[in-house]
Amino acid sequence: MPFISGTELLKQAWQRKYAVGAFSAHNAETIQAILMAAEEEQSPVMIQIGQRVIHHIGLEAMKVMIDTLAKDVSVPVCIHLDHSRQYVQTIQAIQLGFQSVMFDGSALSFEENTAWTRKVVEVARALNIGSEGEIGKIGGTEDDITVAEEDAMITSVHEAVSFVEATDVDYLAVSIGTAHGMYKKPPKLALDRLKEISEAVNRPIVLHGGSDVPDEQIRQAIAQGIAKINVDTELRQTFTLGMQDILDADREEYHLAVSLGKGRERMKLKVQEKIRLFGSAGKSKEFA
Ligand SMILES: [Zn+2]
Repeated sequence: MPFISGTELLKQAWQRKYAVGAFSAHNAETIQAILMAAEEEQSPVMIQIGQRVIHHIGLEAMKVMIDTLAKDVSVPVCIHLDHSRQYVQTIQAIQLGFQSVMFDGSALSFEENTAWTRKVVEVARALNIGSEGEIGKIGGTEDDITVAEEDAMITSVHEAVSFVEATDVDYLAVSIGTAHGMYKKPPKLALDRLKEISEAVNRPIVLHGGSDVPDEQIRQAIAQGIAKINVDTELRQTFTLGMQDILDADREEYHLAVSLGKGRERMKLKVQEKIRLFGSAGKSKEFA
């Protein structure tokens, strides 16, 4: 039984100063790429389900598929709902047996964000499911959500502390200069602010927009309290380029197992690279 609560998983990562990759899955092959990479690296892993794939395939279908594909995996796996802006959807994920959920009320007023997040935290906690909330707006586009650059602001320590006091969320997503998607010029993370927030809220912090951030900044962010790093864009890109290589070589290669298989192979290597960078390789054995 490989499934583990997000609460337990991230608490341990945070205490031991490494981060768990939360890798987005979009179909069977991407789920497999994540699981195979985690198994090979003997790393705990989070598989996250975002809004776009929920519209495209469905929340339950993805959950059932992960359950089936993860059945024989030996490392701890945590299925996470990413960026839900609907209370009802987070409750559906909880009913389906997700081990971690994110309610993203960052587009709401502070009062509404805290009120809804608090409700999610209460239900999730009663069932030993991890909960993530977000304070401050993270720029870029993820799934169907776009935040213009001018709206993306660095989260203040005061906001972060007030939010955590009002919600008691298990782990906190903050805006520290990353954006969803690939970068036009390399980002510069607000590492000093991260350190201050991390010390003030005293719980794991989540980094969104983990694709394409220079490795050294990732290492420093982990040292300052980041325990979960979301990666989506870079994996989708790698998967797609793998398929393209097959089709460039033979436009009449109609076996999906061949093109999707190449996408899976490439994405698995990319996930392994991230797992090593995040420091979670070899950590699966520390979970009983
Ligand atoms: Zn995100």
